[in-house]
Amino acid sequence: MESPIKLLTILGSTGSIGENALRVVEAHRERFSIVGLSAHSNAERLIEQARRFHPRIVNIGDESKLDEVKSALAPESIQVTAGRIGLLELASRDDATLLLNAIVGVPGMEPTIQAVESGIDVALSNKESLVMAGDLIRRLMEEHSAALNPVDSEHSAIWQCLAGEKLEEVRRIILTASGGPFRNMPKSEFSKITVHDALNHPNWDMGNKITIDSATMMNKGFEVIEAHWLFNLPLQRINILVHPQSIIHSLVEFVDGSIKAQLGVPDMKVPIQYALLYPEHASADWKRLDLTSLGELTFEKPDYDKFRCLELAFTALKHGGTLPVVLNVANDTAVYAFLREQIRFPEIPELVSAAMDAHASIQDPALDDILETERWTKEFLQPKLD
Ligand code: MG
Repeated sequence: MESPIKLLTILGSTGSIGENALRVVEAHRERFSIVGLSAHSNAERLIEQARRFHPRIVNIGDESKLDEVKSALAPESIQVTAGRIGLLELASRDDATLLLNAIVGVPGMEPTIQAVESGIDVALSNKESLVMAGDLIRRLMEEHSAALNPVDSEHSAIWQCLAGEKLEEVRRIILTASGGPFRNMPKSEFSKITVHDALNHPNWDMGNKITIDSATMMNKGFEVIEAHWLFNLPLQRINILVHPQSIIHSLVEFVDGSIKAQLGVPDMKVPIQYALLYPEHASADWKRLDLTSLGELTFEKPDYDKFRCLELAFTALKHGGTLPVVLNVANDTAVYAFLREQIRFPEIPELVSAAMDAHASIQDPALDDILETERWTKEFLQPKLD
């Protein structure tokens, strides 16, 4: 039987996940038709992609670049929109059957909600969606029968390990973490960390925001929250294991003590392809894992004292409500302040913690409560960054 063509929209198509997703599409051209592409500000790259993949519509976030994109794509008869409203419209177009949300950061949350509300399945790379609005998105998924396919390598690994298994037979899931570039650095030296040091990730080549989140390990904290919503498991049954080689992408332990793990070279094309062509493991010629050339795989416990962001993420998940929104928005604000060299590395968790302490959390938040909390968090942190 022939598989149906996926009518795919990619949000954030010029970022690292978006580019890799288009490589996957390229490798399986007959399986996909591109409905839409969106980019935050890289108009030049978006134009190149549109010429190559012929989407029906593209959206450029930066409204000042609308005319440039429009005139470049006029001969291709591709509809062009700009700005936030155009992006949200693109996310809810029901001529797509699958939406890859590869937007980085807080702005990625609403497009996920829009897509799910329109009954479109989402291949989710944007962590903020589930961290900030996991409860709301879960409810909407049931109401509109939309699915979430995880793109993150750890969640893809768990998803693959859980295939054909019963959730009640799962004792715990174990998310692996590389530990980032400062795994072996004493905490006392954290204040000397420069932007350049923090952007130097040992295994994965990612965008700047996520690379800093890996260095603070907030990324792993977010992944625990995501795993909670994706796999419906309580915090006590989600563990973190530091595994510096990033070969085992995550593990699932069952009640009989049996453990399943998923391994592979650290290449995002593999989990992206699985999320886009689920439930198929489609043939691809990406680099293969050669176990004999690996040497050894090592494992350590995470250092919660050194990486305070982990504990902050657990606290946010435990208390729920709008506290995870504060966690996320405060972290976003702090990370960009660090990248602009306004604050030092150890101040990232300090700012997040200060915002969480000051916040009066709202339980069972609706979208308005989430957006209001986003505004509150930014306002709260602003004076600390001037
Ligand atoms: Mg990950």
